[in-house]
Amino acid sequence: MSNNKPENMSERTPLVIIGSGLAGYIFAKAWRRADPYTPLTIVTKDDGAFYSKPMLSVAMLQNKTPDELVIADAATMADELSATILTQTNVTAINRKQHTIQYDNGQTLSYKKLVLACGAKPYQIEIAGDTQQAMCSVNNLGDYRQFRIWLSGKKHIAILGSGLAGTEFAHELSKAGFQVSVVSLDPHPLSRFIPAKSGQLLQQQLHSLCGIDWRMNVTLKGIEAQKAGDFQLLLSDQSNLRVDGVLSAVGLRANTRLAEQAGLKTNKGVIVDKGLMSSDPDIYALGDCAEVDGDWCCFIAPIHYCSEVLAKNLVAGNNLERLHYPAMVIMLKTATYPLSFCIPSLSQEQEEGEWQITQQSGNQRAEYRDINHKLRGFVVTGTYAKEHMTLLNEITSS
Ligand SMILES: Cc1cc2nc3c(=O)[nH]c(=O)nc-3n(C[C@H](O)[C@H](O)[C@H](O)COP(=O)(O)OP(=O)(O)OC[C@H]3O[C@@H](n4cnc5c(N)ncnc54)[C@H](O)[C@@H]3O)c2cc1C
Repeated sequence: MSNNKPENMSERTPLVIIGSGLAGYIFAKAWRRADPYTPLTIVTKDDGAFYSKPMLSVAMLQNKTPDELVIADAATMADELSATILTQTNVTAINRKQHTIQYDNGQTLSYKKLVLACGAKPYQIEIAGDTQQAMCSVNNLGDYRQFRIWLSGKKHIAILGSGLAGTEFAHELSKAGFQVSVVSLDPHPLSRFIPAKSGQLLQQQLHSLCGIDWRMNVTLKGIEAQKAGDFQLLLSDQSNLRVDGVLSAVGLRANTRLAEQAGLKTNKGVIVDKGLMSSDPDIYALGDCAEVDGDWCCFIAPIHYCSEVLAKNLVAGNNLERLHYPAMVIMLKTATYPLSFCIPSLSQEQEEGEWQITQQSGNQRAEYRDINHKLRGFVVTGTYAKEHMTLLNEITSS
């Protein structure tokens, strides 16, 4: 693809992006900066609004309506990106031979290169009983709209899952005045990312500061509707919990269906190499739908790095630019008790080391140091949380 202005620009086959989430738009912006002329079409099954998804778990306390979360609507984004944005358009198939995608109304669109940015969907776990009536999940702006309606009249919410989103929603809802119980199979919150001592402290602090009731090492076996909006939950340790609704935050599953049906290689996500190229050299993927060089991680920072690499490769017309993630910080959005972490395995997973923990009352700094005493990762909580930039600088400069 070229950034020289062509004679008959409108006749050229576009770069097509499927998805208008942060991956689709962050990439589109990076690529458009380098290539102002090649036609661009973004196809999305939602309304194409540009919004910050991480806000969904903190917007209620800030009294933000769904409309107030919209940074720019699809028409504004189309203008900014000199793009055609097809909203409410569900892509149902990719025809790699013909270089086309197909919509559910049967229409097709040709692509020169195709970028999959089609995200992930909430994981559904098998629970017996009145699941449909009791449960809800929030993974996009439309869900957030429904969620606000769903909450009305409720007092006690169970949150299923104690990862990043589950913990943030627990904090948000408890601060908004709801009684919150978290039900999780994990031993402590954020167990995929932080060591037990940090997770246990986070759990204690959010219990004492916000009143969150943690039911750890258990799962939800069944839901029985007692009457409208009143549910009895049966947990795997045989205990019961009476709640008004269940917010599921048990994780995500990458949207790989289109890629699979088109015969692309997939695993946890659409498999792409360090140049973001899939098993078809004309199809690329990034964001929550992509497994990049064996890594499937659903965070914003990787999307920025992937976007820069992919934009360079598409503009240059080769696959030479390679992705190298630097150390990245993730901040838990729990204002009452802040926590930031940098996962050692995101940067140098082969390094052996150990966690060294400093704690003063409810505040903790956990440093992961390798055998040469180099800092490789960390967790900082409470008053230590503001040290995250200093620690990140130490990692990146060593
Ligand atoms: C509540 C919450 C809080 C979060 N907080 C943080 C945080 O603090 N920090 C952080 O780093 N990350 C956070 N994340 C994760 C982060 O928001 C995501 O990793 C990121 O937004 C994913 O962007 P995406 O574009 O890949 O996917 P999505 O936003 O899911 O976008 C996918 C797009 O693809 C479209 N699409 C899908 N299938 C089709 C189809 N067949 N046809 C047409 N269009 C299709 C959808 O309509 C959508 O536009 C949070 C996530 C949630 C849910």
